[in-house]
Amino acid sequence: MDYRQRLLARKDEIEQLIKKKQDNLMIPLAETTDELSMYDQHPADIASELYEREKDNGLLELLEFELEKVNDAVDKLNNGTYGICEICQREIEPDRLKRVVNTTLCASCAQNSQDKFTRPAEEDITRTGDMADRGETFDIAGYEFYE
Ligand SMILES: [Zn+2]
Repeated sequence: MDYRQRLLARKDEIEQLIKKKQDNLMIPLAETTDELSMYDQHPADIASELYEREKDNGLLELLEFELEKVNDAVDKLNNGTYGICEICQREIEPDRLKRVVNTTLCASCAQNSQDKFTRPAEEDITRTGDMADRGETFDIAGYEFYE
């Protein structure tokens, strides 16, 4: 298994998603709606558009976080600590690395730290299926809430 190749592919993928989100967020609000003029719009439409923006901003933050993790993993690969659990220093299960190529925790440490977290916001986003609906599915590094 070529982890480096997988990580770099992952990095590419995330960078593209980030770019797409950033492009979306650059478009003036009025242009992202079907209406030509904001004035004609029902306030609820604008509210939901604003809500979408908020969500996009949240996703963007997640993607940037994910990208950081991938970059960390590449660093680890370079200095020979890739695949070593950050908590217990044991080797991370190969199956797990295969699924979450940029994970930094072994399965049991991830399980433990998951219990400590008050469930982070990304769960809400992915749970609702919004991302899947938009054809944007990705796992969040180290967080595997859906298993
Ligand atoms: Zn561990």
